[in-house]
Amino acid sequence: MNWPPVAPPVSYIEPVFRPPSEASSLILQVTNGCSWNRCTFCEMYIDPQKKFKPKSENQLLGEIIRCGQQLPGVRRVFLGDGDPMVLSFRRLKTILEAIRTYMPSVTRVSTYALPANLKHKTVEELQVLRELGLKLIYVGAESGDDEVLRCIDKGETFATTRDGLLKAKQAGIKTSVMLINGLGGERMSEQHALASARLVNAVQPDYLATLVLFSRRGNQRVAEGFNGDFTPLTQRQLFQEMEVFLSNLTLEKTVFRSDHASNFLVLKGVLNRDLDALLRQLRAAIETPDRVFLRQDYQRGL
Ligand code: SF4
Repeated sequence: MNWPPVAPPVSYIEPVFRPPSEASSLILQVTNGCSWNRCTFCEMYIDPQKKFKPKSENQLLGEIIRCGQQLPGVRRVFLGDGDPMVLSFRRLKTILEAIRTYMPSVTRVSTYALPANLKHKTVEELQVLRELGLKLIYVGAESGDDEVLRCIDKGETFATTRDGLLKAKQAGIKTSVMLINGLGGERMSEQHALASARLVNAVQPDYLATLVLFSRRGNQRVAEGFNGDFTPLTQRQLFQEMEVFLSNLTLEKTVFRSDHASNFLVLKGVLNRDLDALLRQLRAAIETPDRVFLRQDYQRGL
């Protein structure tokens, strides 16, 4: 028995989310929830306890000091929740300096970022954050199509997303872009796929991930954003949309993962190097789905 009791290093307001690739990272919840919190498909921060609020600087500093003492081997830190980049440059700098000082084993800090919040930082400020350890940002672009983005109330456009990502790249921060297969429904499927490919081509992100539109509460909120004119894609249509998207990519070296739990078909490769193989996988899933391994609904872990 430890006496006096040791305070746990970090406190969380549940639920807490992170990208699949941050499974082994320590999550520091520097804010609670998402300051935007309006995207119609997003159910991450809808519980009342997830109302947006930054964690106090004193509380956070105490957590970072305790993590340094109790978890000396941590190498990667993920800053949560939905958009810590909404914090001022000064506050982010203070957080990263504290991590550097009290957790010297950390080699990479990453976070989710909204393009709108990148807009409010200069390239020079982002460079300072990168030098202090912020090496990777995850941007849920969702789509490159302005009409789809408006219907889902993303608060971003093709141009704002592109510009935010390019600014981060200019500062030397790696970028990971997430898109949602099926987000435009049947009517906007093609324009969603083509504009998303244009966005990704313009940005040349280091990482690219796609997930499938899913909702535990049904698509009613999404459909309302489309004035009721929203027909979800069938599994076959999801593959067809992905085929259009991939066929229009011209990427130099982007690590692509379509392995989120929501996906029926797992696709992985480096683009465009592995493009032909990925397209063959998709063709097989479209033409002979019974001969391809596809996740069943109960295996999609939603
Ligand atoms: S910005 Fe991200 S976290 Fe915030 S509501 Fe939209 S999808 Fe959800």
